[in-house]
Amino acid sequence: MIKNVSIIGDGAMGSVCAMLLVENGINVKLWGHDADYVRLLADKRENVKFLPGYKLPDEIAFEPDDDQAMKGADLILSAVPCQYMRSVWTRLKPHTPPLIPVVSVTKGIEKGTLLRPSQILSEIIGPDRHYAALSGPTIADEIVRKLPATSTAASTDLELARDIQQAFNSARFRVYTNSDLDGVELAGALKNVIAIAAGVIDGIGAGDNAKAALLARGLAEIKRLGLALGANENTFAGLSGLGDLVTTCVSPKGRNRSFGERIGKGQSAEQALSATDSVVEGAATCVSVLELAGKYDVEMPITQAVYDVIYGGKTVQEGIQDLMTRELKS
Ligand code: 13P
Repeated sequence: MIKNVSIIGDGAMGSVCAMLLVENGINVKLWGHDADYVRLLADKRENVKFLPGYKLPDEIAFEPDDDQAMKGADLILSAVPCQYMRSVWTRLKPHTPPLIPVVSVTKGIEKGTLLRPSQILSEIIGPDRHYAALSGPTIADEIVRKLPATSTAASTDLELARDIQQAFNSARFRVYTNSDLDGVELAGALKNVIAIAAGVIDGIGAGDNAKAALLARGLAEIKRLGLALGANENTFAGLSGLGDLVTTCVSPKGRNRSFGERIGKGQSAEQALSATDSVVEGAATCVSVLELAGKYDVEMPITQAVYDVIYGGKTVQEGIQDLMTRELKS
């Protein structure tokens, strides 16, 4: 049974996970890379940068010290944006107790290495511990308002998945388990790219038919790459697949969707990125996904169009034109 959790990462998801755990009577220490900001969180009891306007429960302990943050944990939760995981975990490696399992809530693929979050962790803090992912339709702003939500705890070690399920599950947050860690992590990462396209569609007012087509064809290409990488087909119809794709593509608060919307309304990718303090995971992940798709010879036309608009100098109209005039498929 999990009693003490160390949360690494003081962004929106780190804070939300801390809230859910303390509501279940679990002791939580929350650490962030910037000690001054962690002290500010402890002082204000509000995540002013990443989750403004909500009080954080008094039961959450904020810990700026690398060593103290890890002490006594029987589960470590990694809530660090994907492209920062390597530097954060390299720093924390000497303080990380051996064998303690790690659950990641990050949804991305590392640029260059093309590794998923649990693979990055395994490479840095060692393969001799169990890893899991907690992933699903979990827009932070809704969970913090105590609206009903669900998620999937995934691990090849089903006992760990069940322990995480027990730790998080409540009447307002229902948790399922899945042994397909690869599929759950891939689905979570790939849908962020599709959500950028959904935002573009919203920004230019392309309509609901276009949005529905994007979700259906987006899921098709997510599944295509997932299957090529050995994931279980059922995962893509579940909470961490279709479920998370839908919420990320429709939520007004979604960071990836909002980034796409700003582009659809005429901002450049640089302007749209600099308009927020939050990390837009899909913008970097899109580069990794295309590289993976090339390696496994999988067609991902929507991801390609998002890449072309963000990095390739194409206009939104050209990107849409490319998708609509592709060679016909049966
Ligand atoms: P955003 O990063 O786009 O806010 O999406 C969060 C998410 O993954 C929802 O489940």
